[in-house]
Amino acid sequence: MLKSKEVCQILELVRSYSVPIRDDRVRGLITWYVKALQNAIDMIWDNIEWKYSFPKIVRKSKKLVVIRGLNVRIPIIPRDRAFKKRLREELMKDNPYAAHWVDAVIRTAYSIMKNWRRYLRGRARKVKPRIRRRFARCKTTLMKIDYQAKSIRITLRQGEYLTISWRSTWFEHRVRGWTVGEVIIKDDRVVIPFKSSEEIYVRKVIGWDSNELSLDGYEPSIGFIHVDLKPLQSIKIVYELKKAIAQRKGKRDLYEKYVRRERNREKDFINKLSAGLRRLFQNTIHVFEDLDKEDLVSRKKRRKKRRKRNARTPWRRIHRRMSEAALTAHVDPSNTSRECPRCGYVVETQEGQIFECPRCGLKMNRHKVASINIRRRYLEGKRRRKRRARMRGFPHSNEPEETMKVELWVGVTPSGRSPVIWIPMKRGPEGREAKGRGLGKNQAQ
Ligand SMILES: [Zn+2]
Repeated sequence: MLKSKEVCQILELVRSYSVPIRDDRVRGLITWYVKALQNAIDMIWDNIEWKYSFPKIVRKSKKLVVIRGLNVRIPIIPRDRAFKKRLREELMKDNPYAAHWVDAVIRTAYSIMKNWRRYLRGRARKVKPRIRRRFARCKTTLMKIDYQAKSIRITLRQGEYLTISWRSTWFEHRVRGWTVGEVIIKDDRVVIPFKSSEEIYVRKVIGWDSNELSLDGYEPSIGFIHVDLKPLQSIKIVYELKKAIAQRKGKRDLYEKYVRRERNREKDFINKLSAGLRRLFQNTIHVFEDLDKEDLVSRKKRRKKRRKRNARTPWRRIHRRMSEAALTAHVDPSNTSRECPRCGYVVETQEGQIFECPRCGLKMNRHKVASINIRRRYLEGKRRRKRRARMRGFPHSNEPEETMKVELWVGVTPSGRSPVIWIPMKRGPEGREAKGRGLGKNQAQ
């Protein structure tokens, strides 16, 4: 489908590394910064205008749907010039540092407020944000970067600088040729984000359905892809048990140790998963469901579904990591597992593993149906911008009966110290002759 014209897209890569720092002036700077940041947030908060938004009722396939339940108070964050000027003047009153530091504070305050506004989607609490961590986010105007010497000079105030270098660090070679972004200063280290952009010629579009035990993908030139997430589940289960025991015994230190270890192992798995998918599927855009959009339509129903899906699998973290490692796109998740990929019929309820279309008789695994729909929704959205054409079902050369026969099984398996072994396995057309190892246990659903 994309063969005739390839689309070039830019993938922005960001890798953050920290350089230890020992400088007494850092503590003072951070103390001032955190206080000024809280002041800025307080001032913005006090000037928020609260507006009422009334529920919006829309007609959707013969039913009335309430878009935003009940009356919600919408915060309007002050952004006008006069307010920003006043805020800046107020903060300048008690600023021993360069004036740009005040601008850095204001910018961080606004980004925190923007983030807080997520409460409207029910993802944050409706209370004023409090700064609990000690940090100072720099601005590029305060930094002078010497790529030759691999050092950053940060202006504290006129004539007074803080210099850090990434020369002969363990990550030096990893960021060769990359550009430096705004650093974050902590009491004992400076976190430097390195950026690079990569041109990717998109030749494949994989639609991914995110499930509790698997990630199920579809791309016509590959067929179906099944990524096993059970190892991730076992990590969770093992540590849930360990944490419960530590808690019962009242051993807080041990409990926290398990929390840390669980997080590290999970992170490790997710890193390997995304690196593996990137390597295995090059020149690919990976399409996922937009988990944030799930909240918008009929909250209660969705929430239950989401709870089930996210019971153990950290989907947000997986999606975020994937978007750092490869090109990704997100689509509206509604009805993805209820719409027939062949004729477009939407079934009322979808229970069980097998989707059955009452109109055209298609029978297919529910996750596969969803992955086809997610992929199509992305391509449809792209087309809609050009001309309002509706794509329906499979492209003719890729009827489901054909592509269904091939399935690629992928697993992240821990083996010794470097657990990145990928086992791509192709199923024979009849599903019995397996090529590759370890397929015996994995029967097609
Ligand atoms: Zn159908």
